[in-house]
Amino acid sequence: MRTKKWAVALLAVALMLCLLPTAAFAAGNNLVWLNNAWLSEGETTIGEGKVTLDAENKTLTLENVALTSWVDIETDGFTLIAKGTNSIIPSNNNELGLYVRQGSLKIVLEESASLTISAETSNAIYIPSGDLNVSGAGTLTLETDGEIYDEDAEEVYRWPTLYVGGDVTIEDATLNITGNQVGLFTEIYDEVEDESTPTEITMRNATVNIDVTAGTNQAVFCALGSVTIEDTALTTKTKVTSEEIEGYGLYVVGPILIKGEKTDIKHTGAVGFDADSITIESGKVDVKSNGTALLGYNGVTITGGTVKAESEDSYAILGTKGLVSVTGASTEVTAITGSEVYAAISNANNPSNPDFGDGGIHLDAKITVEGKNLIVGVKKDAEAAITLGEDFEIAGATLKSESLSSTKTKTYFVDEEGNALTGSAVVCKHTFGETPTWTWAEDGSSATASFPCTESGDYTEVVNATITSETTPATCIAAGKTVYTAKVTFGGKEYSDVKEITLAIDEDAHGETELKNAKEATCTEKGYTGDKVCKDCGKVAEAGEEIPMKEHTFVNGKCEVCGADDPNYVPDTSSDDTSSDVSSDTPSDDASSDDASSVASSGTDSSETPDTGSSSALIWLLLAAACVGGTVLVLRKRNA
Ligand SMILES: [Zn+2]
Ligand SMILES: [Zn+2]
Ligand SMILES: [Zn+2]
Repeated sequence: MRTKKWAVALLAVALMLCLLPTAAFAAGNNLVWLNNAWLSEGETTIGEGKVTLDAENKTLTLENVALTSWVDIETDGFTLIAKGTNSIIPSNNNELGLYVRQGSLKIVLEESASLTISAETSNAIYIPSGDLNVSGAGTLTLETDGEIYDEDAEEVYRWPTLYVGGDVTIEDATLNITGNQVGLFTEIYDEVEDESTPTEITMRNATVNIDVTAGTNQAVFCALGSVTIEDTALTTKTKVTSEEIEGYGLYVVGPILIKGEKTDIKHTGAVGFDADSITIESGKVDVKSNGTALLGYNGVTITGGTVKAESEDSYAILGTKGLVSVTGASTEVTAITGSEVYAAISNANNPSNPDFGDGGIHLDAKITVEGKNLIVGVKKDAEAAITLGEDFEIAGATLKSESLSSTKTKTYFVDEEGNALTGSAVVCKHTFGETPTWTWAEDGSSATASFPCTESGDYTEVVNATITSETTPATCIAAGKTVYTAKVTFGGKEYSDVKEITLAIDEDAHGETELKNAKEATCTEKGYTGDKVCKDCGKVAEAGEEIPMKEHTFVNGKCEVCGADDPNYVPDTSSDDTSSDVSSDTPSDDASSDDASSVASSGTDSSETPDTGSSSALIWLLLAAACVGGTVLVLRKRNA
């Protein structure tokens, strides 16, 4: 049993008591042994400072004194007040620092006051049968660093820095402890009965720093009692060693209760906190160890706070007989193990033992786990081995159970392929924000909206969008575009996004055109249907076509449009006679007496005379008349 180990400490203290002067035991009215003498009532000057004994009120006041021998308070119920800067550092390195022979002691530290007690091969403070209460806004510093080798026993002896056979309360004060054995040790042990009575350690609104890395033991050892840490900054450091596994931050046979928003606990060392049960209600807890970080034999209950438990080679959070329960809306737990064997969170360190591991695990808060084995629940009832709060899950994982024995099952998380989940995972009740990330297909044909979990970023819900599009085509002078609109409905809300794809200028996509270069065909020249020219860019949108030349319109061997000769024309003689007849009918006398113009007009006149009944005949007649006229003109010129 654990108590046996501490017989060593008790023995060491017994050795110290032998150093007391015999006078000390005889002095019935003497209350305080100080500065190697019984202290007188009232003020005593020591060096630059003074000490004051008020026997009636059982008060000893130290004011700026540096004592170089131990202080022994003989009776119960004393109050030691520290003002200014004080120290008890025995020059005889076998001496205790402060000894309370009977009962309890209160140490009151005035604001900014300090008391440093340093004993080499003994306890800095030894109160074997009473309580210690430290209060006030000052600092109490306790140091022990020596050791004695007992040749007969072949043992090295070291001493707890602060040894109290009762309750310890630290309130408002700062307590610094360094040592090479246990930092703060409490136990009420009846040697005759071989029984321990529970002791309580309470830290409230305090700052406590315990560093025992010089040895291999616990920062705090509380036999059979309980530890309550409330609104306190507690730092514990123990030595990491492969030989010893006693380097706990808090070793408590009873329960540990951690609460208060101001609580800020940090431990580094061989093992973390070990208790009958561990309850964390609020504050910040950061435990890093080689062995188990947080161990509650009868369970670990976390209802609030920010907890980080990290073990290099064992469980991060372990409950053996009891339930491991993590709840609370603002609770955040991180459990990390570097072990190849042990899980980050488990309720059984020995699943084959029927006494162990029937508490199960209940997870109803945000929990991050890391390790080769993440969460392992062991219970008779497989369904209850791991239970999750409403809507909590490890994204993509499910629970799998397997039988360990006829009375035990093991339950753990598996991935989609059914393999035990490993690496890191988050137990999360996902909450999603309202600003999704959109991912578009290059061509705008499809899109997805991604909603990451804002709680822990462990999971992203991806929703496929429906796409609509609207296109403004490109023209010969302007780029066009297609605007794709993606829409999703998520969590009862509509979200949309647009993607615009530019359509490059299309040189062939002309707008309104006008016809240019159109030309009618004639009997001498080809025509052209004309080019359709874009009004926007001025380019030919559609080229025209040639129109073949027209046929000549021959009349009597000549084209009546262009006058070209008809190569196929054969003059018709009969129609010549007719014509001469007509011309002979023309009164040539009249014509010869007139000038050329009058001939032409007479010719016109003459056209009225014969009625040929056809226009071609008429034309022919006119031409003939003109020819006669011409002849007349020539004749007249000769005559002249
Ligand atoms: Zn989440
Ligand atoms: Zn154009
Ligand atoms: Zn022609």
